[in-house]
Amino acid sequence: MQKLACPKCHEPLHLEGNSYYCPNRHTYDLAKRKYLNLLLNPDKNSNNPGDNKDSLNCRKAFLNKGYYDPISDTLNRYIAEHSHPDMQILDLGCGEGYYLARMKKMLNHEDYTYYGLDIAKDAIMMATQYDRSIYWLVGNSKNLPLLDHSMDVISCLFTVVNASELARVIKKDGYIIHVTANPRHLIEIKELIYDEIHVKPDTFIRLPFPIIDQFDLVQPIQVTSHEDCLNLLKMTPHYYHIKKERRENIEHMQEMTITIDIQFTIYGASHES
Ligand SMILES: [Zn+2]
Repeated sequence: MQKLACPKCHEPLHLEGNSYYCPNRHTYDLAKRKYLNLLLNPDKNSNNPGDNKDSLNCRKAFLNKGYYDPISDTLNRYIAEHSHPDMQILDLGCGEGYYLARMKKMLNHEDYTYYGLDIAKDAIMMATQYDRSIYWLVGNSKNLPLLDHSMDVISCLFTVVNASELARVIKKDGYIIHVTANPRHLIEIKELIYDEIHVKPDTFIRLPFPIIDQFDLVQPIQVTSHEDCLNLLKMTPHYYHIKKERRENIEHMQEMTITIDIQFTIYGASHES
């Protein structure tokens, strides 16, 4: 059973026809593409928050070539090894949906319920192309449209999180998978773009929950076409910092080796005092 909550009053949402209603009759229409916009107007920082469309298209094209499958596989394997029947799983900051859609396919459990939330409506619209049985939600991570203590697993990959909202929606025996980039993640791209690279000694963002498990994933990846190299560059924030005289390097690039260097931190639910 789904655990959606009204973003205005936090009461449960129920589907009637093509709309979701809370007991206070706040109404949210299901879009034609079967996603739900639960972003309140005051939540918005701009008219079009989140990633832009061009960057999202590059991301989708790159991810669907399988280059980041080791990240997805590691995530899915952890959940498969720490699972029980009837799980509720949220992917926070799900973007265009690659990781969550692949997770659902690989876990292959009919009794699991999946939610993908992102503030970018364009991203969520793209995500519906993967799988319409996932609850794709346009929403704010500072005001999650989910019931208190309703999620067994929350995954957060390379995204900004709000610890108090995580604490509110995670079950007492649930866990949070936080994936962050280590300083040498995609170091080759930084070398390509910047004259000098300042590798920060530690970029680990410690969340206020007890750590259950922590491990690194370090793996070189061979990118094998010009189009894929360009897509990779465009999906990182670095692309827009490339100097004109360096663009030529990239125009002729047919392949590159990049290093995935990321950290998985698994947190338990209870707040540390
Ligand atoms: Zn309401």
